[in-house]
Amino acid sequence: MKKLSAVVLATTVFSLSSLAKTNVEAAVHHPNLNSTLWYQTSAEFRANSLQSYKMATLQLPALLTDTSQTALLTQTSNYQQLPAAVIVDIDETILDNSATAASDVKRGFVGFDAVQWNDWVLAGKAPAVPGAVAFLNKASELGIKVLFISNRECKASASAACPQKDATIHNLKAVGVKDVSSELVWLKGEQPDWTSEKESRRLKAQQQYRVIMLAGDDFGDFLPNVKKDITPAQRFSLVDKYQDYWGSRWIMLANPTYGSWETILQAPKTQYLRDVKQ
Ligand SMILES: [Mg+2]
Repeated sequence: MKKLSAVVLATTVFSLSSLAKTNVEAAVHHPNLNSTLWYQTSAEFRANSLQSYKMATLQLPALLTDTSQTALLTQTSNYQQLPAAVIVDIDETILDNSATAASDVKRGFVGFDAVQWNDWVLAGKAPAVPGAVAFLNKASELGIKVLFISNRECKASASAACPQKDATIHNLKAVGVKDVSSELVWLKGEQPDWTSEKESRRLKAQQQYRVIMLAGDDFGDFLPNVKKDITPAQRFSLVDKYQDYWGSRWIMLANPTYGSWETILQAPKTQYLRDVKQ
């Protein structure tokens, strides 16, 4: 019996060490290794994020005072008298979920793990993106509403109508966001037309608020129809078309780990590389 246990133990140890080895190899070659390390370890990411939010904060007083200002291209009339609001995305804009990317890299998983994601959101332990909380609280202090428009999903469980929403509000409060409540967090699926395309939620927001600023980490947090059936060149020309908005009414956070920047690319992705011969 003892002998058998020893064999089982040895086999288990061998399997675990061989598994660990496989995962290390998979991690080293994982497509998100460097982007996740940049996000989690670089002074460059941290400084970039702080400077984005510093720039955003500096714009607030003037945008608040000048009631002709709006950050929404669709907000063209009867908005001057509405209360001011900023719209922010949540993931990789306010909350840092890079731990899920790090777990994927370490176990060699490529893709989106919906179970891991749901567990992570429900745990409510994401740290804040550098600078985000101070920015949000400054906006609240100035009397500006903060509306969170996120593609976290509102899907009923056995015990709650919208468990990801409850956990997200808890998480935002835990990192220090002072003014956050259910009516200010609009998740995907909360209304039938609230899809991952955020335009319908922005259009609803403009009925209630003069939206003075947008902050996000994905082009789709600013414009509709930019997350599929579009080329990088077409997206570049849209960025340039609205260049007056960047750094003033539109604040883009860096996210090299995922986003529509990547999902719009067709295989093989190497076709997009501009090398020295071009
Ligand atoms: Mg995001």
